[in-house]
Amino acid sequence: MNETHDPKAKSWVTSANQPGCDFPLQNLPFGVFRRKNHEGGGVGIAIGDQIFDVGAWVRDQGMSSAEFALLTEPRLNRFLSAGPQVWSAARKALFTLLRDGVPLRELVARYLDSMSNVEMQMPVKIADYTDFYASIFHATNVGSMFRPDNPLLPNYKWVPIGYHGRASSVVISGTPVKRPSGQRKPPAADTPSFGACAQLDYELEVGAIIGRGNALGEPIPIGKAAEHIFGLCLSNDWSARDIQAWEYQPLGPFLAKNFLTSISPWIVTLEALEPYRTTAFARPEGDPQPLPYLSDERDQQSGGFDVSLDVYLSSRKMREEKAPAVRVSHGNFRDLYWTFAQMVAHHTSNGCNLQAGDLIGSGTVSGNSKEARGCLLELTWRGSEPLTLPSGESRKFLEDGDEVIFRGYAEREGYARIGFGECRGVIVG
Ligand code: CA
Repeated sequence: MNETHDPKAKSWVTSANQPGCDFPLQNLPFGVFRRKNHEGGGVGIAIGDQIFDVGAWVRDQGMSSAEFALLTEPRLNRFLSAGPQVWSAARKALFTLLRDGVPLRELVARYLDSMSNVEMQMPVKIADYTDFYASIFHATNVGSMFRPDNPLLPNYKWVPIGYHGRASSVVISGTPVKRPSGQRKPPAADTPSFGACAQLDYELEVGAIIGRGNALGEPIPIGKAAEHIFGLCLSNDWSARDIQAWEYQPLGPFLAKNFLTSISPWIVTLEALEPYRTTAFARPEGDPQPLPYLSDERDQQSGGFDVSLDVYLSSRKMREEKAPAVRVSHGNFRDLYWTFAQMVAHHTSNGCNLQAGDLIGSGTVSGNSKEARGCLLELTWRGSEPLTLPSGESRKFLEDGDEVIFRGYAEREGYARIGFGECRGVIVG
């Protein structure tokens, strides 16, 4: 850790110093914005309720390293491929500019804009999207619904299970979620039919954005894997459970998953998350230890992240009645069976090449308790235990007009609290 993690450091942007603010000086997440009045935009940094227009700053004022010029590009991909030393130098420079007492304050302030004046864009051009299945609680719950006799397949504790998703349908938070149609076959029906998904669900996930990739044929060893991850965001892997149940065997998820995935706009860097690292999942007695290519002492000691993850739901009726969204679950990212470093090492272990801007989804983050279940499939046990909303409505799965909101934050005694902001989406029919 370094001076950018100093919990006593304050910003001259006063909103950044408010308790509970997601974006204090110690966070400095990267995003891409566009002004609502169409007067420019580009790479920005969240600070309090403001955005620092880092692209314009670099263009107008210059920054010490030539690689910072990559921040003037419309997406972060090339900056990501510059690697951890450049990311860290940029973070330190931004920390210095936004810290209380900086002599350039009046000049820097000209590059701030209120978040209410901008629309967030995709921070990177998603190169490829891979989704894992790293919560053993989620895998066991889903398995026991779909395959009661055989909930957890024998490979689960050996192999980080994943599948290749679809980069083209990864969208920014706030994009409307169009209910997909597809082929479904309810258990009672003799033949399938085609129509609107009747079991639309969210999946609470954390996404890792890959920084520097690897050459084809050259695996990333587990001890180096974290250096290839630029940062994390929240991700909603929208899922059509009825389509999924009928199509997923023998080759796994396809149209039930690839119609849309939403991500939160701010990428919180791994460097900002350093204070909230924690041990990897403690495997119960009797579980196999990871094979050597997935095993690293430092990763076991600090490859987990203590990040609280909340899911809120708001129906159209609730919004009409001006009722606040209701929290339906509360989980933690540290509950995953596999670390992101293990997922990256496994993904490249056959020589597969990751690229800057790849999105690696964690899989649904569910914990051991009922309140920590990260999707409606689990929370309502496939619709058999509906949720009751404050409006009196009940939910087995998502209805048109429902809004799903994810929030994430990290806090630890002796350090600042930092947040991820939100990942939102409203279902439209
Ligand atoms: Ca998923």
